[in-house]
Amino acid sequence: MGSPKVYKNLINGEWVDSKSGKTYENINPADNSDVVGVFQKSNEEDVKEAIDAASEAYKKWRLVPAPKRGEIIYRIAARLEKDKEELSQVMTREMGKIIAETRGDTQEAIDMTYYMAGEGRRLFGVTTPSEMPNKFNMTVRQPLGVCSFITPWNFPMAIPSWKSMPALICGNTIVIKPATETPASVVNFARVCLEEGLPPGVLNVVTGSGSVLGEPLMKNKAVKIVSFTGSTEVGRTISETCATDFKHCCLEMGGKNIQIVMDDANMELAVDGALWGSFGTTGQRCTATSRIICQDGIYNEFIQELSRRAKELKVGNGLDESVHMGPCVNQSQLDTVLSYIQIAKDDGGTLISGGEKLTGGDYDKGFFVQPTIFGDITQDMRIWREEIFGPVVGVGKFKDLNQAIEKANDTPYGLSAAIFTQDVNNAFTAMRDVYTGIFYVNAPTIGAETHMPFGGTKETGNGHREAATAALDVFSEWKSCYVDFSGALQRPQID
Ligand code: NDP
Repeated sequence: MGSPKVYKNLINGEWVDSKSGKTYENINPADNSDVVGVFQKSNEEDVKEAIDAASEAYKKWRLVPAPKRGEIIYRIAARLEKDKEELSQVMTREMGKIIAETRGDTQEAIDMTYYMAGEGRRLFGVTTPSEMPNKFNMTVRQPLGVCSFITPWNFPMAIPSWKSMPALICGNTIVIKPATETPASVVNFARVCLEEGLPPGVLNVVTGSGSVLGEPLMKNKAVKIVSFTGSTEVGRTISETCATDFKHCCLEMGGKNIQIVMDDANMELAVDGALWGSFGTTGQRCTATSRIICQDGIYNEFIQELSRRAKELKVGNGLDESVHMGPCVNQSQLDTVLSYIQIAKDDGGTLISGGEKLTGGDYDKGFFVQPTIFGDITQDMRIWREEIFGPVVGVGKFKDLNQAIEKANDTPYGLSAAIFTQDVNNAFTAMRDVYTGIFYVNAPTIGAETHMPFGGTKETGNGHREAATAALDVFSEWKSCYVDFSGALQRPQID
């Protein structure tokens, strides 16, 4: 094997080394002998240069007609589609999730990019009658300026595209800092954007550590909005930092998502949903199912069936098409998962299946853990309340729908929830009363589509939504325009 490829930062349309002169290796979490690439360990100076480039590029990009911006974005979508397999293979190597899922991640980026390309010919505002004669009222969207994006490792291309495409179509320019674990997917995404005609400086990428680059990305006066997806802890710091300058900030953070299974549920479907929701992406999704509650009458049957099916899941290197679940993203995430398994035991949870780190053979080269199920979980336990971000799900009980809703809402988070029932009254009541940003009936807590708003309540978000046209509201500001063609001074509310 030759030396691994060295990837550079993208600033003002050029691939450049960091001013720090330092780099780091990006290692495959399923096979620590596989170095995906060498990336720049950037510093504050690199961030400043990228923001300066984005500020300069903004002067022209904001004036490009939105349908023309859309044409470039459309070409980017087509190219992502063409390169989908290659991009997905790299993504599995850098973050571990199985190839079927990284193809889904790339597809999400493709869908979002096509969707926002179309918005170039819409970006609708409203016209509305004036209360005065011979006067015209309309609203138009205006871009904000330079956007700083700080993105996580679990959806390395989808999430950067969810932020970039609405920002670009609205006429903003961007600096992205990808998670340390997954720079390759963002660098690949940026390369496609550049090669398909996005002008220099409109999208810049600076790789490196969030704790070093976070402040310079947030505090620079030229930055008008910070969009972040990641942990609630870091999100809180970002919110506080942005508040001082009244800088916009859009936060998508943690989740503790619940699946409710009623007595009348289709059992096979509910188990299918629980398996996919809990162990898809090795449980490393903000929408992952991490709490399940079953109505008393079906608890035993459900838990037996879920555990039987979980034991059949094949864990391994995600590039192997027969594997169902890949590794944790890194040692620290694996340690967190193992520590929560111990916490759940100490708190009185009953270990139903899994619970062990996988070792021996190829497992020793990565961060593998068994899909793990705890029974008898209750609201006082830490695995009820705290996000684990790994393949660990707790199952508890409820008596009736009112109690299920009360339990569902007993969490600091509010991202996603699901109910499995054949009763339309139960379904609609839960849909109304469970306080989350996303709700599913007879489908798992994961599975968002790009033309639906995405985001959560409580400590999951700060009121914004990504995706769909809701994302346009994050990356544009309304300007209310009044055109008076009466030739006289008209005073609303007075004349
Ligand atoms: P982190 O919050 O640690 O990291 C997210 C991003 O923030 C990374 O790019 C990271 O950089 C950066 N970062 C870290 N510290 C700082 C800082 N002090 N200032 C600015 N940026 C910083 O989360 P994880 O990467 O560990 O992701 C897991 C978490 O993200 C989970 O809690 C999960 O729920 C949440 N998440 C939420 C999603 C949602 O849509 N609601 C989607 C995906 C994940 P670096 O990698 O260099 O540390």
